[in-house]
This record gives sequence, C-alpha cells and structure tokens, in this order.
Amino acid sequence: MAQAYDWIDQALRTVHRANWHRTVQRLDGKAGPTMTYQGRQVLNFASNDYLGLAGDPRLSEAAIAAIQTYGTGSTGSRLLSGHRLLHEELEQAIAQWKGVADAIVFSSGYLANMGTISALVNARDLILSDQYNHSSLLNGAKLSGATIQSYRHADSDDLKTQLVNARSRYRRCLIITDSIFSMDGDICPLPDILELADQFDCMVLVDEAHGTGVLGATGSGAVEHLGCRNHPLIQMGTLSKALGSLGGYVAGSASLIDFLRNRAPSWIYTTGLTPAAAAAALAAIRIVQSEPERRDRLWQNVHHLKTALQDLLHHRSQSVLKKLLPSESPILCLEVADAAIVMQLGQHLKQAGCFVSAVRPPTVPVSRLRLTVMATHEQAHIHHLIHTLDQTMRLNG
Ligand SMILES: *Cc1c(COP(=O)(O)O)cnc(C)c1O
Repeated sequence: MAQAYDWIDQALRTVHRANWHRTVQRLDGKAGPTMTYQGRQVLNFASNDYLGLAGDPRLSEAAIAAIQTYGTGSTGSRLLSGHRLLHEELEQAIAQWKGVADAIVFSSGYLANMGTISALVNARDLILSDQYNHSSLLNGAKLSGATIQSYRHADSDDLKTQLVNARSRYRRCLIITDSIFSMDGDICPLPDILELADQFDCMVLVDEAHGTGVLGATGSGAVEHLGCRNHPLIQMGTLSKALGSLGGYVAGSASLIDFLRNRAPSWIYTTGLTPAAAAAALAAIRIVQSEPERRDRLWQNVHHLKTALQDLLHHRSQSVLKKLLPSESPILCLEVADAAIVMQLGQHLKQAGCFVSAVRPPTVPVSRLRLTVMATHEQAHIHHLIHTLDQTMRLNG
C-alpha cells in the first residue's frame, strides 16, 4: 500500500545523515528584541524586523482599522475584485519613497521575484546571477526558461568577463543581485553593475529585501545609499522585514509596472494582499520616513555589536569562531568550522538566553552563526550577547 510514497522516508534519512535536517523552533510572545523560547525569556538576535516595527502598536492599529473597514480578506485577485484604495496608497507611497514612477505589491517578496523575472525574460535571453543570490531570485530565473550563468560573489570583473563572452548570443539580458546579501550581510557593487549594464545593454533587478528601511538617507534602501537612484533599474523588495508586515513589491518605471500587471502570473492569478498587511506596511513606511532616529539607533547598535565581536575574536583567537564576515548591514555573521559545531553553539546560546541562527550548508557554503541587530535592542542586550558568546566559547574550546 502507498509504496509510491516510500521514497519520502528514504529521502528524509539522507537529509538526516548529511546533518542537514531542519525543524521549526517556536518563539512565543509579541515580535520584539526579547521573546519567549521554551518558557524562558530570550534576546532575539535572529529577526529581520530591523526597526522593531512588527510589534509597534501603530502598525497593529492600522491593521485593525483596515480589517474593520474592509474585512480580513481582499476576496479576489487585484484585476478582478481584490483591488482596494489601500493597495493604491501603498503602491504610491513605495514609488514616491523610491523616487520612481510606480510600484506593484505582491503577496510576498518570493512571489515578486518569481513573477517579475519570469515575465521579463525567456528562452531567448540570458540571466547573470550573483553566486550568493537569494533562493527566490534563482527560482524566478529557473522559471523564466532563460539561460542562467552565475558570476562570482560581488565580483564585477567576473560579471564583465561573462558579458564579454556571452552577451551577444542572446536577445535580452537581465542581471539579478541581492543588494544586501541575506546570509552574509555584505553589499553588492551596484555602481559597477549599472555601468556594465549600460555598456552591454542589460536590465538590472536589485533585491532590496534587507536594504529597505535600513540603508539610505531616507531609508529607502541600498540604491539610495549607493547614489544609484537616477539610473533605470528594477527595484524589488519586501514588506516582511524592516517594514514589519507581509508582502513584496517591485518599483520602477510606469511601463515596467504596467507590464508586470499584465504579465506577472504570481500577481495576476493570486489574491490581493490582505487589507491588514497593506495597512501595516503603509503605516511602517510613514514611520520610517518620519522617524530617522530609528535608523540611527539601528546603526549605533550595529557598530556597537560589530566592535564588541571584533574584540571578542581578538581575545579568543584560538576558538571555534573563525572570523566575522565582512558586512555593511545589520546582518553580522561569525564563521564556524563545521555544521555540527555551529548547531551545538546555536543550541547552547539559545539555552543561555540568546536566540541566534545557526546556518549551515546547503543554505550557505560555510557554516556560521548569523546575528541580526534591531533598532530596539538595548545596550544591555548586546552586552549580554557578547558575555554569553564568550562563555559559550569557553565551553566549546
Ligand atoms: C526574505 C527575502 C526574500 C523574500 O521575501 P518574503 O517577503 O519573505 O517572501 C527575497 N529576497 C531576499 C534577498 C530575502 O532575504
């Protein structure tokens, strides 16, 4: 009976043998710098809620008001019955913030990448993709049917070599890259990429999932931070990280957005963003724009933690923690020798009250502890994390 499904258990055994098995870990309580894990309070250094907005009462109030006005669901796809004033307001707010003509919101950032990339290129085209790009960029690229070539991480020389060798064989070319790399925290060489795009007649899609709300004078992202706002560009991002809600967006020219409304299946054939999610994201954008001090606090915390981690590594150079990966974001990663050790460290730290992510292959090439900083972390939280890391390293050699 049901022999057709036996392979699933075999596949799971293989996952276990490789030390790759993952399970969910439940955090209780409201999203914030401290949460509850297994009945105890922990410091949360694993969240993408960089500005601490997911637990902000103003977002909750906006979401509740939207539910009271519109109900819980948007009841249909945007092109049929699921389009509301809130969607319009949100899309306009995103476009204005980014300094572009228009924007479109998807149900998630993942769907935004899948739908956008597959709409822009097909089998006659070429995609050049940073080696460390997020899964949603890669799967969008695969779905498109275009030829995919990956270039070495953040290496515009390698990108250029590939353009020289391959560009002329294809009709359109799309370069795709994270702005801030989600598992490393470093930033892409966007000015160089845009120059190459001009030279070789390429489109560029930049994924601002970790840049939105965090980087740039108005917090609009790495594109602003790197002075690239005036360049033709496809800016994608998420409402689910610093904006504390759920959903994704693409911002760009009026014709790009109009084209996506007609050609992106993951937008056309899915239900519109819920009123609550749209209202929370809109409230978050207003807060990001009117409270730059939140961003200042975030960066103060980043510098504080970074310096403390460097000191710690300096004083414990013989430990299992190898080094701090280069970062220009609130994502700070400590390289660890192997997958078994990183899992053990992660477990110790959680038990000692610091909730951090242990990340290992196949998600990343080299195992690491991934720490994310929030604007709402207090100095004492960071001190406690450093102290706990120090203690844990004593135990683990
Ligand atoms: C999180 C993330 C996404 C997906 O966004 P969701 O809104 O969570 O679906 C896309 N790209 C990158 C780089 C991300 O980190």
